[in-house]
Amino acid sequence: METKKFDVVIVGGGIIGSSIAYYLAKENRKVAVLEANTIGGKSTSAAAGMLGAHSEYKEFKQLYPFARSSQLLYKELYEEIRELTAIDFEKRNGGLLKLAYSEEEKRELETILALSSVEWLDAELAKKMVPQLSGNIIGAAFLKEDVHITPLIACNGLSKGAQLFGAEVYEYTRVLGVKKKGIDYVIKTLQGDFFAENVVIASGVWSNYFFQQLGLSHQVIPVKGECVSVENEGFPLQYSVFHNQYYIVPRNNKEFIIGATKKWNEWSEEPSVDGIEEVIQKAKEMIPEVGNMKWKRAWAGLRPQTYDGYPFIGEHPEMKGLYFATGHQRNGILLAPITGKMIRDLMLGMPVKSEWLDAFKVERPILV
Ligand code: FAD
Repeated sequence: METKKFDVVIVGGGIIGSSIAYYLAKENRKVAVLEANTIGGKSTSAAAGMLGAHSEYKEFKQLYPFARSSQLLYKELYEEIRELTAIDFEKRNGGLLKLAYSEEEKRELETILALSSVEWLDAELAKKMVPQLSGNIIGAAFLKEDVHITPLIACNGLSKGAQLFGAEVYEYTRVLGVKKKGIDYVIKTLQGDFFAENVVIASGVWSNYFFQQLGLSHQVIPVKGECVSVENEGFPLQYSVFHNQYYIVPRNNKEFIIGATKKWNEWSEEPSVDGIEEVIQKAKEMIPEVGNMKWKRAWAGLRPQTYDGYPFIGEHPEMKGLYFATGHQRNGILLAPITGKMIRDLMLGMPVKSEWLDAFKVERPILV
């Protein structure tokens, strides 16, 4: 049997694993992605696709600059992937309106309103942009840079791009274990063994299995998110609208994505009736018209959450050449390009910002 030997094996072909594969394959590394199911088929395909660098973060020390760098990277990556693969992952300009229903909610937006890329709109102006908005708002922060993409298409674009640079992608190939043997790692699968000098665990919420198998007590916790989508006729929506954790994101094909619940430590990947009711109710509070739209589908996905809200992006404290890239919670789509670049830079010995190294390193103090 042919020996499957690579420079890098990536465990998990969600958007994080696919982005890492893309950036490494582009640097002529011989890469394999081993995916238990299909590329992007888990949390990635459940996502709404907002690139919410401004809407998601309240702290401006590590996470916002990291997220903003990734948001900016998407601008070049979008064109690059389209030219290379002919895949258009539907980056739509327009941005996002973060609604305020009271003076207190407006005050909560003060930190982001201080940024030059964010603008306050009073209710009248907000309704000029989205005439169907609820009459109860007092205004909205307009986050014009928080555009959105279609996550599964983006993931497939990155994966195809990686393959055009020579990466090999193995779907339906579940990794059973990773073990050091000589200078290589042996990656055990039901389809046989793979060998590589470097391994990246990018298995979303399922990374826990590998933390444990590789001697670490780290954990990511699933935060289940449920969404529905509806079809609308004659109601063009150019902007995403957002309030608290709930949102309506317009997709190209007349589809509105309505989300999302946040259910801590729930492993089921099926949407529940209560979850669906909750997101529809919240969407109707933002845009009452939603109630008249045609039902399309419902789904759920598991966001990988760490105890401190920061992802794990870095090398195993004791096993050289073994990396983790997981725990991106609500923002894995947004953070995929910068995570891919950071793992590439770590592996190739290129400079990485020290504050990001420290904030996201695997061996930071953990609560057990
Ligand atoms: P996944 O996409 O889950 O990929 C991990 C992969 O690893 C899976 O395909 C799995 O099959 C594979 N795997 C697991 N175990 C093994 C194994 N043993 N062997 C081989 N393969 C294995 N983020 C945003 O930035 N913007 C949004 O608007 C947004 N909206 C969201 C809405 C919802 C409802 C949800 C649930 C999430 C949302 N997210 C959003 C978050 C985003 O989806 C995740 O952070 C991101 O998809 C995580 O990517 P990942 O590659 O780490 O995980």
